[in-house]
Amino acid sequence: MDFLPIFLNIKKRACLVVGGGSVAERKVSLLMDAGADVNVVSPELCESLRLLSEQGQIQYRQGTFTDTDIENKALVIAATDNTQVNESIADIANAKGVPVNVVDNPEHGSFIMPSIIDRSPVQIAVSTGGTSPVLARTLRSKLESMIPSGYGRLGILMEDYRGKAKQAFSTVDERRNFWEKILSGPIVEMVMAGQDDRAREYLENAFDDELKHHALDSGEVYLVGAGPGDPDLLTFRALRLMQQADVVVYDRLVSKPILDLVRRDAERIYVGKERSNHAVPQEDINHLLARLGKEGKKVCRLKGGDPFIFGRGGEEIDTLMQQKVPFQVVPAVTAASGASSYAGIPLTHRDYSQSVVFATGHLKDGSMNLNWDGLAQPNQTIVFYMGLQGLEVICRELIEHGMPSDTPIALVQKATTPDQKVVTGVLESMPNDVKNSDIKPPTLIIVGNVVKLHERLNWFKG
Ligand code: SAH
Repeated sequence: MDFLPIFLNIKKRACLVVGGGSVAERKVSLLMDAGADVNVVSPELCESLRLLSEQGQIQYRQGTFTDTDIENKALVIAATDNTQVNESIADIANAKGVPVNVVDNPEHGSFIMPSIIDRSPVQIAVSTGGTSPVLARTLRSKLESMIPSGYGRLGILMEDYRGKAKQAFSTVDERRNFWEKILSGPIVEMVMAGQDDRAREYLENAFDDELKHHALDSGEVYLVGAGPGDPDLLTFRALRLMQQADVVVYDRLVSKPILDLVRRDAERIYVGKERSNHAVPQEDINHLLARLGKEGKKVCRLKGGDPFIFGRGGEEIDTLMQQKVPFQVVPAVTAASGASSYAGIPLTHRDYSQSVVFATGHLKDGSMNLNWDGLAQPNQTIVFYMGLQGLEVICRELIEHGMPSDTPIALVQKATTPDQKVVTGVLESMPNDVKNSDIKPPTLIIVGNVVKLHERLNWFKG
């Protein structure tokens, strides 16, 4: 280990930054964030430092560095653009035993600055020992995306209850045990989902003797949208919940590469629905989720696309609500967005379409009960989900309700996956065009002049 990582308390301590340019400015703002009284010495200041000085947020002495500037300082940062000046500042600080950092020259100072992932009060510092700031920054951005912003609020919440935990549990072991249980329970996800009040309420209850054992073991259901197929389109939250679930209840629409990202030893329950052949009736799925949650399991209900767009997500959480099983809903990229982006068909466009409608093309007794007049509007894009079977009805009804028969239409099969296939045509002939083709579900239908853009903007070659 070349350096000892420490976190320094510099609140209200005088710190010195030598230099007045943009590098110095970044250091100044970091020191200010940590609550320091910042002193800057430099012959001149850049615009933003000048502003800080005028506002009295930093103390500025105009001039070149002299030995006395170091007196009574908790730390020094040499950030001038002159290597020799920086080095001599470092020598003086080192001689006086004041911690000093030389920007861009780690050898010379006594400490180096890490890349910081700030989730105050939680902080993560990354260092490569000064060998490669770029590598440190790359690592940092990876960590940034892995560590949800809610960790800061989680830290604050735990801080707020530290005293109470001390009172409630007399030994360190008991306290550690308690917090471990809390952190492996639903509270973390409550905070990440922004449900801080619920988390506080849960924590209050957890302290109650009566609930101590019971509540800590309660399960939760995550209603998670898995997006249209490409695993890269998952949200961070979806991925996190998939990786901590005990059970995953999934649909036919959830693609294999996405399922592969689920925690390896999680139980998998398939409740896939084939059209007009409901493998598991919706009612049973609703009750299955509630039962698993009540058994204390972390249940990830994984659905294709977005759970609240033709996903019957509302029905599933209704049952959970009634049965008082904690849950949360995670939105996702819906098939319309996925298909539109990956087929190069913007759903709206200044020249072609000022509105977009999502409709279900599901056939019931051979017909579709839709507001066709409302759909068949000029300058509007219509996206039909579940419409492949009813393609003929859709094209016929739209023409009958006033849409020109040469209105462009696209079928996008398995959008966003390597098997994506796009077929374009016009309303009048499309049903015939695909009669003998091998187009199959899941396929999305897009109707409107925006489809014309496909030829020009098609970038994804599956
Ligand atoms: N909740 C989902 C929609 C479920 S309904 C969502 O938000 O996307 C099922 C219909 O969605 C399918 O019949 C098909 O029309 C559409 N669909 C879902 N994934 C698709 C994909 N990858 N490519 C094309 N259509 C898709």
